[in-house]
Amino acid sequence: MRALVTGGAGFIGSALCKQLVAQGWTVTVLDALTYAGCKANLEPEVSSGALRLIKASICDPKVVAETFAATDPTHVFHLAAETHVDRSIDGPAAFVETNMVGTAILLDSARTAWTGDGTRRFIHVSTDEVFGALGKTGVFSETSPYAPNSPYAASKAGADHLARAWKETYGLPVIVTNCSNNYGPRQFPEKLIPLMILKALAGEALPVYGEGRQVRDWIHVDDHAAGLIAAAERGREGETYLLGAEDERQNIDVVNAIASLMDKRFPDQAPHAALVTHVDDRPGHDFRYAIDPSKARRELGWSPKSSFDAGLAETVDWYLDNEDWWRAIQDGSYRGERLGRA
Ligand code: NAD
Repeated sequence: MRALVTGGAGFIGSALCKQLVAQGWTVTVLDALTYAGCKANLEPEVSSGALRLIKASICDPKVVAETFAATDPTHVFHLAAETHVDRSIDGPAAFVETNMVGTAILLDSARTAWTGDGTRRFIHVSTDEVFGALGKTGVFSETSPYAPNSPYAASKAGADHLARAWKETYGLPVIVTNCSNNYGPRQFPEKLIPLMILKALAGEALPVYGEGRQVRDWIHVDDHAAGLIAAAERGREGETYLLGAEDERQNIDVVNAIASLMDKRFPDQAPHAALVTHVDDRPGHDFRYAIDPSKARRELGWSPKSSFDAGLAETVDWYLDNEDWWRAIQDGSYRGERLGRA
C-alpha cells in the first residue's frame, strides 16, 4: 500500500500520516508548506526515513504528474487545502485556487497515471460545511443537499463536485468523505480550540463570536484519520461517507470547558472564564452542524474512540507541553489576531 497524502504537513494530514506509517504503508507527502503547514509535524517520520516529504503545490501540474510517476501511489488521500473560514472571508481567491483548481489538477493526474487499474482509490477529504447550516434539529446525511455559505465551504463544495465528476465521467475510483469539526494536537492556533487555549494561557481575552450559541459536532483528529483509512480499505468506489462522533456542543460551552481545564492547571489564574469577551459575530456564521455517521459505521466498520471531554483535556495538555511548536508559529505567521470581519 503506497499512499500519496496531500496536505500531510497540516493538522489532520499529519495525524493520518502517523497512523499510515505505524500500519506499514509507504507514505509520500505533497505539501506546499503554506502558513498552515508545519514540517515539524512530520519530523519523526521524515528523519527516520519512514516518510518522504515533497514541498510543492497541488496547483503545479508538472510536479504533481512527476510525483505520481515517481511514487506510483495505490491510494491518494487528498487533504491539501486552504482551511480557515475567516481567511476565506478576507481573501477567497486562494481558496478557489487551491481547493478547486488544485483538486482538478490532482484528479486529472490520478486519471492519467491510473488508467485501467481497478484497485486504486482516491480519497477526497471534505467537510460537513458544504451542506450549509442546520436549525436546532436535524442532521446531515449522505443525501443532504449542498448549500455552502462561506467562501471556504463553497470552494470545498466545488472540489467535491469535481471529484464526483471525475468518477462519473472518467471512472476514477473516487471516495468522498465529509467530516465534522476536528480537534486535537497540532491544530493551527487560528482555530477555536487552540486559539482559546493559548489566549487563556497568556491571560488574554477569549474572543467568542456573537453569543457563542453556534453548535459544532466535534470529532478527535485521530478518529477522523482512522475513518479515512477505513474508507480507503473498505469504502465502495463512488460512495460518500459522512464521518462524525455525534458530540454536539455550543461554542460558548467549549470555551467554558477549556477555561475550567485551565483553572485546574493554573488555579492562581482562575477563573479563566472571566476572560470570555463577546465580539462581533462572523459574517454568514452557520448556526449548527451535525452529522449522522451511521453509513460509515455500518459499511466501514469504523467508530470514533475518543470522548470529547477526555480528548479536550488531552488537547489542552498537548499545547501546554509543546510550547516550542506554537511559539514558532507566534514568532512567525500568526499571533492570534482577529481575522475575517469582512
Ligand atoms: P490545515 O490547514 O491544518 O492543513 C492544510 C495543509 O495543506 C497544510 O499543510 C498546507 O501547507 C497544505 N496546503 C495548502 N495549500 C496547498 C497547496 N496548494 N498544495 C499543497 N499543499 C497545500 O488543514 P486541516 O484542518 O488539517 O484540514 C485538512 C483537510 O481536511 C482539508 O481539506 C479540510 O477541508 C478538511 N477538513 C477539515 C476539518 C477540520 O475540522 N479541520 C473538518 C473536515 C474536513
